[in-house]
Amino acid sequence: MDCCAHEGPGGGDARFDIKKVADGIWAAVASPAYKVNCNTAIIENSDGVMVVDTHSKPSAARVIVEQLRDLTSKPVRYVVNTHFHWDHWHGNEVYPQAYPDAEIVTNDITREAMVKKGLKRIQDHVRQVPSEIAKLKADIQSASPAQRAKLEADLKLAESYLAEVRALKPALPTIAFERTMKLYRRDREIQLLHLGRAHTEGDVFVYLPKEKVVITGDALIGWTPYMGDGYPEDWAGTLDRLAQLDFTHIIMGHGDVTGREWLDGFRSYVADMVETVRQEVATGATLDEVKQRVIAKLAPRHEKTFATYNDYRPWRIGAAANVERTFAMVS
Ligand SMILES: [Zn+2]
Repeated sequence: MDCCAHEGPGGGDARFDIKKVADGIWAAVASPAYKVNCNTAIIENSDGVMVVDTHSKPSAARVIVEQLRDLTSKPVRYVVNTHFHWDHWHGNEVYPQAYPDAEIVTNDITREAMVKKGLKRIQDHVRQVPSEIAKLKADIQSASPAQRAKLEADLKLAESYLAEVRALKPALPTIAFERTMKLYRRDREIQLLHLGRAHTEGDVFVYLPKEKVVITGDALIGWTPYMGDGYPEDWAGTLDRLAQLDFTHIIMGHGDVTGREWLDGFRSYVADMVETVRQEVATGATLDEVKQRVIAKLAPRHEKTFATYNDYRPWRIGAAANVERTFAMVS
């Protein structure tokens, strides 16, 4: 009997597509899930492996550790966190457990954000997920048969997430750098860069100049950006500095591997959104009016850009939240 067919490798429910991006460089692209997982970039060096970002829970990172073994027998030496959000570092603890010499690396700003905000948010999740579970249970009671299966799957994921977040042993970075850190390996150079504020105050970009690959965290994703901790007015400028780098492949925080063309469409949405909010705020409009008008103005130009993941992360909902954040910052 195949008791565990619903589970991924390592007993985790997270699913990843491993895609080769260049020699020794892979993207583990996370499938959309009720509790979102980020992508992981895997970089094999002469003396060990670097992975970038560790998902929303340890079991997801364990799936990667297991899949890594099919790619290389080398140990993980470096784990990079691109920013302090839960879905990018809650799996950290898995790596020092599996590889005792693994160092966790980020910049000063992001490490401090993990200490000051990230740890507190773990406690918030422990407190909040039970009411989320209660709501899912209530929704299941009143659901149509068609909705029920999805809600029941979500409930299962919420319950397993709660168990994991309760047991989390947050592993903070063991190395923090100020602006830039460069690793020179026999076969490659890896740059960890801070290009300014965007998705968070401390976004880290990982750049491989020889292979022309960049890993962006959530400063660039495959659906509408999340700006809840972000700096909408700085974002496009940070992406302009990114655009000055020479690369052909982008491994984003979420969504499929892409090329430079995605940067243009994404940047133009962010810049247009901020500019349109500014114009509407200048008329003295209320938040609700600004939301409505900005979305109406942006939809013809930008809604189709974000169509791929629209069922999972609808553009209109994301854009409304972006407008709200920007409104608060420019008012
Ligand atoms: Zn994020």
